[in-house]
Amino acid sequence: MTTHTGRHFLQIPGPTNVPDRVLRAISMPTIDHRGPEFAALVHDLLERVRTPFGTQGQVIMYPSSGTGAWEAAIVNTLSPGDRVVCFETGQFAVLWRDMAANLGLEVTTLAGDWRHGASPEALAAELEADTHRTIRAVMVVHSETSTGICSRIPEIRRVIDEAGHPTLLMVDGVSSVGATEYRHDEWGVDVTICGSQKGLMLPPGLGFNAVSEKALAASQTAGMARSYWDWAQILAFNSRGFFPYTPPTNLLYGLREALLMLEEEGLPAVFARHQRFADATRRAVRAWSLEVLCQDQREHSPVVTAVLLPDGHDADQLRAQILDDFDMSLGAGLGKVAGRVFRIGHVGHLNELSLIGTLGGVEMGLARSTVPSTPGGVTAALDSLADSR
Ligand SMILES: *Cc1c(COP(=O)(O)O)cnc(C)c1O
Repeated sequence: MTTHTGRHFLQIPGPTNVPDRVLRAISMPTIDHRGPEFAALVHDLLERVRTPFGTQGQVIMYPSSGTGAWEAAIVNTLSPGDRVVCFETGQFAVLWRDMAANLGLEVTTLAGDWRHGASPEALAAELEADTHRTIRAVMVVHSETSTGICSRIPEIRRVIDEAGHPTLLMVDGVSSVGATEYRHDEWGVDVTICGSQKGLMLPPGLGFNAVSEKALAASQTAGMARSYWDWAQILAFNSRGFFPYTPPTNLLYGLREALLMLEEEGLPAVFARHQRFADATRRAVRAWSLEVLCQDQREHSPVVTAVLLPDGHDADQLRAQILDDFDMSLGAGLGKVAGRVFRIGHVGHLNELSLIGTLGGVEMGLARSTVPSTPGGVTAALDSLADSR
């Protein structure tokens, strides 16, 4: 093992870098989770947390990973044997789809090539064919973190509305909420799923469900077995500032601090920053003569760029070398694209210099590797940042 000086570069698309302010907030003494100070914290959080989701409605928080919040969305709104439609946009979509099948739902998968987002046209055809209105939920991953592709949720909504279909719309916003424009209410999303460790700049450990009135109504009659994930119980306790079980008190301190930081910068500025960094990263990739996995200009993710290596080159070997030489972690290719792509995370607590340092590490790593590439990516990214100033 090489000895490294300076700070580790954690440039995976989650868990992301946790700001020192958030770490300090988390380190405060744990308090009585049934006392008045805790209730005040929860009331404050439940108010503030709505903003990055773009909702005036309820946001339910779990001590869980994002995967737990996926399960919560399903078991609160659906019944065994219900039909759901999923899109094969990448590894997270596949995992969520498999979970739905494991939980006893009847799953229809709309095929995808992992280089495009969820197809509104394919959904339109599926909804039109569903003359008996058997589809109960459409499940879409917004920012597919495994491929760097952002699906167009407003267009998915438009297709559902045009079909006049009563289906629920569930969206995985795990890597988009807090980092990109997200409008739960305006887009007519029924359940938005999120986790703490990406755009929200917290360590892993909190899961979220933002829920619409329609989703709450569905939960009244949904027949799937649920206990820990049951919205009704949590909402009843939350209304008094408490949880039905011991909550992750210190992560909630961190959440308050992270939400304050997002408020101070202003969400429009946060979103613009992510967009600028994503644009600069893609300019760098093109200058290296490498290929961005995403093939649709409208669907580039603002939070992560997946870079495809030429055939016969091992992306994991490149990542391992960059970790060893420069102490920087890049995201691995997942599932179907394992070994073929590496992912540059540019989400969360990041500034221009950390982005340029990241791209510098990739460029130096490429230069030392056998992967055919051209230099000039960092310069192209600097130009991009100057242009978008
Ligand atoms: C990270 C991620 C998940 C999974 O979250 P876990 O906390 O690992 O369970 C799900 N969906 C997307 C889009 C993600 O980026």
